[in-house]
Amino acid sequence: MSDLTFLAVHAHPDDEATSTGGLYRLLADQGVRTVLVTCTNGECGDTPDGAKPDADHHDGDEVAAIRARELDQSVVVLGIERLVRLGYRDSGMMGWPQNDDPESFWATPVEEAAARLAEVLTAERPQVVVTYNEVGFYGHPDHIQANRITRAALQMIDYEPTLYYNAIPDSVMEVMRARWEEEARRQAQEDAARGVVREPEGPPSVDGEPLHMGTPDDRIGATIDVSTVTDAKYDALAAHASQLSGSFWLKMSKEEFRLAMGVEWFVRVTNPRGLEGNVKDIFAGYR
Ligand SMILES: [Zn+2]
Repeated sequence: MSDLTFLAVHAHPDDEATSTGGLYRLLADQGVRTVLVTCTNGECGDTPDGAKPDADHHDGDEVAAIRARELDQSVVVLGIERLVRLGYRDSGMMGWPQNDDPESFWATPVEEAAARLAEVLTAERPQVVVTYNEVGFYGHPDHIQANRITRAALQMIDYEPTLYYNAIPDSVMEVMRARWEEEARRQAQEDAARGVVREPEGPPSVDGEPLHMGTPDDRIGATIDVSTVTDAKYDALAAHASQLSGSFWLKMSKEEFRLAMGVEWFVRVTNPRGLEGNVKDIFAGYR
């Protein structure tokens, strides 16, 4: 056992697996206490038959109930010791009517949600905290709000943890983008062959500005080798079957997945331990 505690603030059930699944399992195996704060219930996710929130039979509460069970399973797979659900309603993508639901995370005053997070931080005193950057990595309102409440909560507590944002280096993003485009082309061909017309998904944007999701390679502050625990990361993603069963990740074999997903990257935002450069251990400076 160690006296180290790790805490990540995530927007939806499944985000803990996609961006920090390897790190969680790795730290649990090292005896680090791990805590997950999930801000929303994920009401705007897909129904098990793939329907989106604008479909007539889409029931957000039903989707949330399924996702709650899936999250429980992912938490077991990743060895997460404590799960805190803040329980806000999923705000949907930017511009959706769900943004304005007073119970949505996006419509919740930052100070209010931050105060609840600050209570958890004060009780757990994690040395390392992870969330998304100011644009929520890809512009989703709940991810942006997760960033805002985390930064606000850190101002409310009596010590300074090391804060990291999850990130993908530009060099890796380039490779991933090529893969996605290839996949989109294949899908379009398949659709055309079946006579299906689908609105092409544009690149993510914030306020009409195309979003740059990558981080310059030299700004990466932590590069974590999670190649020994990618089976658990895969299983955690698979636990979120209602959202991810058709995802390109789960189409990979576990071996392909290990090669593609064996590293997780982070940008260092606060630096109370005076670290320099790109560390290999998220608890660098603490052990
Ligand atoms: Zn999310």
